[in-house]
Amino acid sequence: MEGDYIMAGKDCDVCMDRESAGVFASSCGPISFAYCERCSAAGYEPWMALIGGYGTLSPESIHPEAAKHLNRNCKFHGKTVEEFWQECQELWDQYEEESAEDEA
Ligand SMILES: [Zn+2]
Repeated sequence: MEGDYIMAGKDCDVCMDRESAGVFASSCGPISFAYCERCSAAGYEPWMALIGGYGTLSPESIHPEAAKHLNRNCKFHGKTVEEFWQECQELWDQYEEESAEDEA
């Protein structure tokens, strides 16, 4: 339908409560989201984008600059970095279980 593809005026995909300034490339991977001016300027990302972008890393293997970015984002989402890694681990455990079931 006409209008469905117009992204301007869409809510920010990060904070969900401000009007987006536009759709921009995510710093977490080859994907774009709608960001309001604040989230864009601060480098905030949607939670699932952080999981997708950093989830294959570990607290030991993440680049220090990326760790800072992740830290800021966790604070913004009201979570700790430990909670972030915990959530990634849970998703990997779930993935492993599902893959094992597929192979059986
Ligand atoms: Zn926002």
